Amino acid sequence: MIRTLHEQLKNKETTAISLAESYLARIAERDPEIGAYLMVLGDEARKEAARVDLKIAHGETIGLLEGIPGAVKDNMCMEGTRTTAGSKILDNYVAPYDATIIRRLREAGAIILGKTNMDEFAMGSSTESSAYRQTKNPADPERVPGGSSGGSAAAVADGMAVFALGSDTGGSIRQPASFCGVVGLKPTYGRVSRYGLIAMASSLDQIGPFTTTVEDAAIVLSETYGYDPMDVTTAESDGKRFEDFLSGDIRGLKIGIPKEYLSDGLDERVRSVFTEAVERFRSLGAEIREISLPHSKYALPVYYIIMPSEVSSNLARFDGIRFGMSVNDGSERFAGSDTLLETYLDTRDYGFGDEVKRRIMLGTYTLSAGYYDAYYKKAQKVRDLIRHDFVDAFQEVDLVFSPTAPEAAFRFGAKQDDLIGMYLSDIYTVTANLAGVPAISFPMGTLNEDGKDLPLGGQLMARWFDEETLLRTADAFEKTNQ
Ligand code: GLN
Repeated sequence: MIRTLHEQLKNKETTAISLAESYLARIAERDPEIGAYLMVLGDEARKEAARVDLKIAHGETIGLLEGIPGAVKDNMCMEGTRTTAGSKILDNYVAPYDATIIRRLREAGAIILGKTNMDEFAMGSSTESSAYRQTKNPADPERVPGGSSGGSAAAVADGMAVFALGSDTGGSIRQPASFCGVVGLKPTYGRVSRYGLIAMASSLDQIGPFTTTVEDAAIVLSETYGYDPMDVTTAESDGKRFEDFLSGDIRGLKIGIPKEYLSDGLDERVRSVFTEAVERFRSLGAEIREISLPHSKYALPVYYIIMPSEVSSNLARFDGIRFGMSVNDGSERFAGSDTLLETYLDTRDYGFGDEVKRRIMLGTYTLSAGYYDAYYKKAQKVRDLIRHDFVDAFQEVDLVFSPTAPEAAFRFGAKQDDLIGMYLSDIYTVTANLAGVPAISFPMGTLNEDGKDLPLGGQLMARWFDEETLLRTADAFEKTNQ
């Protein structure tokens, strides 16, 4: 889609401003129902689009993302713009600088249409924990879009953005992509700078795109990855343009199916869509092998120790003094606090939602003296075993394939009182974050429920920094849809 729009812009069949206007009109028409956006930046978008049009009028060459309208999750800082991370505690927070990812988008000439809804501080799998609004799944408005980047997924799925950025700590790009029927890419840890991303769990967080095609995801990645002196975990760019590798040819590639992922608990309907997808890969000439990731069963428990530990430490900065709202702001709304400690406690009590508080408490516990060794340190060791499972698997195969999530989109409220059920949504996705490998979710089929066809995503994982093979394989699958 991006390439087509790019050609139209270049050939003056359309203009960046009319493209931006058509997306803004779509948002005005659809978003009151869907609720994908927390903020629409119409004037800024128009201004940027006019700049691109001027460039084209002057005969300058434009890049692939130039003039292309996209959206960003509301946990990425944009200078002068409110950035809430879906939380009340950042209700009045205006970012003083651009995240590197935003700067990269600006340099690439992309048009930022607005900020999208999300679970509070990216904690959740349904976007229901947003302090602001509900986001509906465009495939069935009675269902959740997934989470935590539900707004970004829904915006792309409903034609309210050509691409959108999300963040993925345990599945927050891939699971909503699966639920909404779009492509979602979590790059290798260290591919894309996290500077200016409001941190959830820093050793797991990674930014990546939602798009309608694999090629578009490749283009957005090409425009946004690389070394950033402001994020020491970023890797030097290898200069690749990932869209150049989408040959459609995957003959001879070895795809591993982890037997642990397809255990008895898996919904039979998901299994059958998955089995068909495996056959499609086989008919494309890939070699399918059963593999083992023996420590998979520990992935979710390990994730729910390491992630809250990092959350409790990262979210300590929201204290009513340094960032965002404060109960001591002198307004009528609050009684005010007499001491510094009360300011901290009351602000955090008022500003954070239940899920965030739960994780801060869990993490504080696992990091506390006496429990650190028993939980956090042990989890780190098991994390290493999980990573090693992938080192071993990638000796045998080039890719690992599984369903993205164990089920299709669920109804609002379905897991509100079933936290474990909510956490289980990430059972196939957290491993990629723990190991740091790149992973993609792409539409693999649908599942019929109550007369509605609900999208289901397939997840491919590849070797560290091998997004090239990852994208080539997902693209080859996508091409068989045509
Ligand atoms: N759903 C997972 C969680 O709640 C993943 C979140 C994420 O990737 N940001 O932690």
